[in-house]
Amino acid sequence: MRHQRQLKIDLKQFSCIQCHACCRQPGYVRLKKAEPDAIANFLQMDVRRFINSFTLLTDDRTSLSLMEQDGGACVFLTEHGCRIQPVKPEQCRDFPRKWRFSGFKKICGWARAQAGKDL
Ligand code: SF4
Repeated sequence: MRHQRQLKIDLKQFSCIQCHACCRQPGYVRLKKAEPDAIANFLQMDVRRFINSFTLLTDDRTSLSLMEQDGGACVFLTEHGCRIQPVKPEQCRDFPRKWRFSGFKKICGWARAQAGKDL
């Protein structure tokens, strides 16, 4: 029987390597109440225009989420990285230290690098 190797990592040591693999994962990026204003201000846009152009209402109608590009990447991911990096949402800033999805260790570049050190 073949054993699946457990990837052992210590999230207290987390340091993002900016691989942007998480930004390419489909799924909601829910915005906190003050975040549309902060992002619109950073983009020098009217907040209503920002909301109409870059967000959608989540299915449970409890929050706005950033839109996705075709294929599921965040609407603000560019070839140079995150277009709104200085004001990126809390959900993005907190991953993977405060929250994570199942299987994230196989996707997050930092986690993969950490696991590789154990091999
Ligand atoms: S996948 Fe991990 S290392 Fe890569 S950008 Fe996201 S948090 Fe940072």
